Amino acid sequence: MSDNKENVIIIGSGPAGLTAAIYCARANLSPLVIEGYGAGGQLMITTDVENYPGFPEGIMGPDLMMNFRAQAEKFETRFITEDVTKVDFSTKPFTVEIEDTILKADSVIISTGASAKLLGIESEKRLMGHGVSACATCDGSFFRNKIVCVVGGGDTAMEEANFLTRFATKVYLIHRRDKFRASKIMQDKVEKNPKVEFIMESAIEEILGDKKVTAIKLKNFASNEITEMPMDGVFIAIGHNPNTSIFKGILDLDENGYIVTHGKSGRTNIEGVFACGDVQDHEYRQAITAAGSGCMSAIDVERYLETLHG
Ligand code: NDP
Repeated sequence: MSDNKENVIIIGSGPAGLTAAIYCARANLSPLVIEGYGAGGQLMITTDVENYPGFPEGIMGPDLMMNFRAQAEKFETRFITEDVTKVDFSTKPFTVEIEDTILKADSVIISTGASAKLLGIESEKRLMGHGVSACATCDGSFFRNKIVCVVGGGDTAMEEANFLTRFATKVYLIHRRDKFRASKIMQDKVEKNPKVEFIMESAIEEILGDKKVTAIKLKNFASNEITEMPMDGVFIAIGHNPNTSIFKGILDLDENGYIVTHGKSGRTNIEGVFACGDVQDHEYRQAITAAGSGCMSAIDVERYLETLHG
């Protein structure tokens, strides 16, 4: 057990966690960030980011996160590059465990994010950011006048298919079953869009391309046929998993596992524990909204520590 009690431990190091760190550090709270082995979050698997304000020429996802980190370090944020294995919020100070160390803190900010579910095929990993994407809002505009497909049958897949028709000439929506999970209203909207074509009862077996996506191998479950289709982009929209397994039974989670926060703030059901970014937001899921909520959690922490220490 470490003897030092931290003012605030920030778990996670995407835009939310690092913005929280910058604000906490500038408030002289000397934050400790447990950045995780997957430091930087989802932007680390994104190529160009064109919608983060302040970068009119765009910026690469990993470069943006390096800038966030450098800014947090400038104000003397400390980092530990390990994963948190266990937390105990039942007594104060709170405890946060990493591999072989138990840390203590007066407050905790959770910004562990969410991970896009992926198909689990090798070519998807290899071509991620090179034609394969898990976010149409982020990457859609790179596919102007191109042919793309969206995988999934839920509301996200419908929303992304519709959105992508602003850029692409053709959008195939590939779903593994013969019925959609999406709400009727979203489905109807897509059905009316002349640029979208549904491919049902099918799955991508392989994404083809050396340096970028050029085609997909598609298997139809009804006929067992495998066909090759030329393709410029593959958008995976099969859902997200919030990274909350270590908080189960400790914090209030919604039915999809996201941390429940109260009102406009990042307050959780435990006083002194705050959550920000995608781990508590499945609606907006943008770097800028995550960063904004990280700032809010830092201000929440500042106010909470003032009440604690007087
Ligand atoms: P969902 O879990 O609702 O849907 C996931 C879809 O992906 C399902 O159709 C599922 O197929 C398919 N899928 C899952 N795993 C695989 C796989 N390995 N291979 C192929 N397909 C797969 O996730 P969403 O992200 O769509 O939505 C999450 C929540 O957010 C929902 O509650 C949704 O309503 C909500 N949402 C609301 C929006 C709005 O109202 N504007 C917009 C976006 C999301 P199957 O159906 O066979 O299980």
